[in-house]
Amino acid sequence: MLIDGTERAASSGETLTVHDPATGDSLTTVAAGTEADVNEAVDVAWDGFETWYGYTPARRCEILNDVARAIRDEKDRLARIETLENGKPLSEAVGQVERCARHFEYYGGLADKIEGESIPLDDGHVDYTIREPLGVTGHIVPWNVPAYLFARSVAPALAAGNAAVVKPAEETPVGALELTKLLHENGVPPAAVNVVPGEGVPAGSALSGHPDIGSVTFTGSSATGREVGKAAIGNLTEPHLELGGKSPLVIYDDADLDVAVDETIKGIFATNSGQVCSASSRVIVQSEVHDAYLDKLVSAVEALSIGPGIDDHDVGPLVSATHLDTVAEYLEVGREELGEPLTGGAVLDREGYYVEPTVFADVPQDARILQEEVFGPVLTVSTFDDEAEAIQRSNDVDYGLVAGVITTDMGRAHRFARDVDAGQIYVNEWFAGGNETPFGGYKDSGIGRENGTQAIHNYTQLKNVCLNISE
Ligand code: NAD
Repeated sequence: MLIDGTERAASSGETLTVHDPATGDSLTTVAAGTEADVNEAVDVAWDGFETWYGYTPARRCEILNDVARAIRDEKDRLARIETLENGKPLSEAVGQVERCARHFEYYGGLADKIEGESIPLDDGHVDYTIREPLGVTGHIVPWNVPAYLFARSVAPALAAGNAAVVKPAEETPVGALELTKLLHENGVPPAAVNVVPGEGVPAGSALSGHPDIGSVTFTGSSATGREVGKAAIGNLTEPHLELGGKSPLVIYDDADLDVAVDETIKGIFATNSGQVCSASSRVIVQSEVHDAYLDKLVSAVEALSIGPGIDDHDVGPLVSATHLDTVAEYLEVGREELGEPLTGGAVLDREGYYVEPTVFADVPQDARILQEEVFGPVLTVSTFDDEAEAIQRSNDVDYGLVAGVITTDMGRAHRFARDVDAGQIYVNEWFAGGNETPFGGYKDSGIGRENGTQAIHNYTQLKNVCLNISE
């Protein structure tokens, strides 16, 4: 753990083993934090808050920019850690560490621009607002994009003057610990960012249920998000929930099919083996181009290389043996519902946690493999005849994180953006947008938005001041 800048063992003495998903070998152990450890981290963070919020906004801005530079300087080392813990291709990990650095830079740039407003009332009053930090904020991070998702909530929280307690995922704690050391080395007071690795229960639940934190930002599954939300609301703590997805990629008959295939491959197979909340896990293709699209897609899928992320293959392993079992179960569910997939469908008989990129075709809307988040390289393909059916199929799931459309008709694209229930719409490019653009879910995909300027509002509270100036 890293509390007040000091590396220490858990109060119970228990440890967690971190595995390399490419081989299944153990890499290292870290402390398995307990409720007592979380309580201590929150107490320490309140001291860190006093120091950090005492700095001028300009100083916080400068420090967060120094942090961004330090992360860029250490990009290769941090990316290797992300690939070793998570399994993703090394070039992808380098890109994610760059996004992590960019987040500290972006919110560093905002740290001295968190302004209030003046509100006109009448001649006898002056009224203005101030945005104040919440104090100590809690951050529960998943394993799929550990460095960037650490930064996604910690950077705006720090920019707004808060101190943080972070609970990284069991599978990927090392990146969070190493990033936090860089924060401390570059001027963030040691007590202002504390990391308590550990299991979801007790460490994550102790943080989300802690009565003395101002907000909890949870990124993870919708099932766990419900628990975290309940625990937070029980203490009247503000929850920000960034949850799962089952996102549609609609391909119209006027689409450039090469673009459609490239974006599909990127969206569900060649980015973190499909272990992405915003993966393009459901393709809905217009009947006229269905066969031509599938021919091109299957050739492209079968050309993907599978192997250790450190060797930068297109498709790396899944994160853990447990997750491999979950995805393998879904492959069986798909077979029972639909028969053999068009391509893929096997767990590879080798060390590490690999499954083949898999495409199920002609998938009916009520199939479990279409409705539920698999979180692996498994794609369903369905067809539609007209625009109304494309929209209806896109919306007919419990999730609403992102949605994409490939078309050369901008009228269709805008109608899609208007009618689909999702927090972000991609036109002719999957994973479009970036650190600067709001991200978060409709429906079961979450509550609230990260990224962009408005994320500062997640980590501040608004105070109104009204003065009677009448003579
Ligand atoms: P998860 O819900 O199992 O775990 C996420 C984190 O919560 C981990 O740190 C875990 O230890 C902790 N946790 C587990 N039980 C807890 C509890 N009872 N109380 C508090 N914390 C607890 O999710 P995962 O398998 O690590 O991540 C994959 C999921 O995350 C997918 O559903 C994916 O779509 C989602 N995700 C969403 C976004 C987004 O921005 N919307 C981004 C990445 C991942």
